[in-house]
Amino acid sequence: MMIIMKSDATQEQIDHVIEHIKENGLTPHISQGVEATIIGAIGEAHNVPTDRFEGLDGVEMVKRITQPFKLASRQFHPQDSIFPLDGFKIGGGDIAIIAGPCSVESRVQILETAQAVREAGANALRGGAFKPRTSPYAFQGLGEEGLEYLAEARGQTGMPIVAEIMSQSQLDVMLKYVDVLQIGARNMQNYNLLRAVGETRTPVLLKRGLSGTVEELLMSAEYILAGGNGQVMLCERGIRTFETATRNTTDINAIPVLKSLTHLPVILDPSHSTGHADYVTAVARAAIAAGADGLIIEVHPDPAHALSDGRQSLKPERFAELVRQVAAIAGAVGRRIAPIHQTQLKEA
Ligand code: PEP
Ligand code: MN
Repeated sequence: MMIIMKSDATQEQIDHVIEHIKENGLTPHISQGVEATIIGAIGEAHNVPTDRFEGLDGVEMVKRITQPFKLASRQFHPQDSIFPLDGFKIGGGDIAIIAGPCSVESRVQILETAQAVREAGANALRGGAFKPRTSPYAFQGLGEEGLEYLAEARGQTGMPIVAEIMSQSQLDVMLKYVDVLQIGARNMQNYNLLRAVGETRTPVLLKRGLSGTVEELLMSAEYILAGGNGQVMLCERGIRTFETATRNTTDINAIPVLKSLTHLPVILDPSHSTGHADYVTAVARAAIAAGADGLIIEVHPDPAHALSDGRQSLKPERFAELVRQVAAIAGAVGRRIAPIHQTQLKEA
């Protein structure tokens, strides 16, 4: 349930409500709204009558959150969540563009790609160092060496780094290098991993599972939020359907559905959702028209020789064209691509 405090409630009254929430076996989550403080009482709240809180001093109203995801729901947090990354913000209007190769393959490859995507207007750099591959014999990523190259690319371009974490055992090394922890589709319901990243205060890019419903995605986000890490962006990356013409089926519907159910930013990964470089730009345009807060795009200087996902990777020139087209669509719907921040330009 959520306890909406009166706009003139004192700190003492807020503290008293928090104590009362704990005494009832629930966990308080405070959200400082523009008009008033809202305190979430999270846990087995359906067993606790609302009138236990209604009579407390400073309380305006008590409402139940009817969705199973509580902290992630718009009922609890009506305004869009916005969180700052180095140089720009995710959520709240501007469109963030994250780009880079599927995998970090070599120092030269990631430095060259980073420079190219930055010049084309990307805000953040992606690149996998630990790769979840279908085959155990396929390239598994460079591990920490790959993270070192990503950090060097950040030093050269000023772009924050997004990279996938596959297990809790990688948390310490990942936190040494990355700005955003990506949870891949295959790990969307790895609850131990979700809890572990929920304990950090590092932003998380949570991908939708191959056959995860929108509600399951939001319940996974809830695990991270419940740990106290509020910086979660959700990523639609296509779902498994009967269709075989594309690698996955882009669920464009998920964008407006998620935007109405949750305050968390929603981004689209048209590279994995289509699986083919020829379709990426069209679907990226559609995502922005549908209200996405950002895109994550695979870019490789030589897709034909990529060690993973070459078929769906754009060459830098094609990516630059995607950015131009997406900027035009953004303008048509009253949005814009997040400008590259001055510190990024200075560092570069
Ligand atoms: C990736 O981003 O390279 C990746 C493995 O994505 P997904 O988890 O969506 O398959
Ligand atoms: Mn990939």
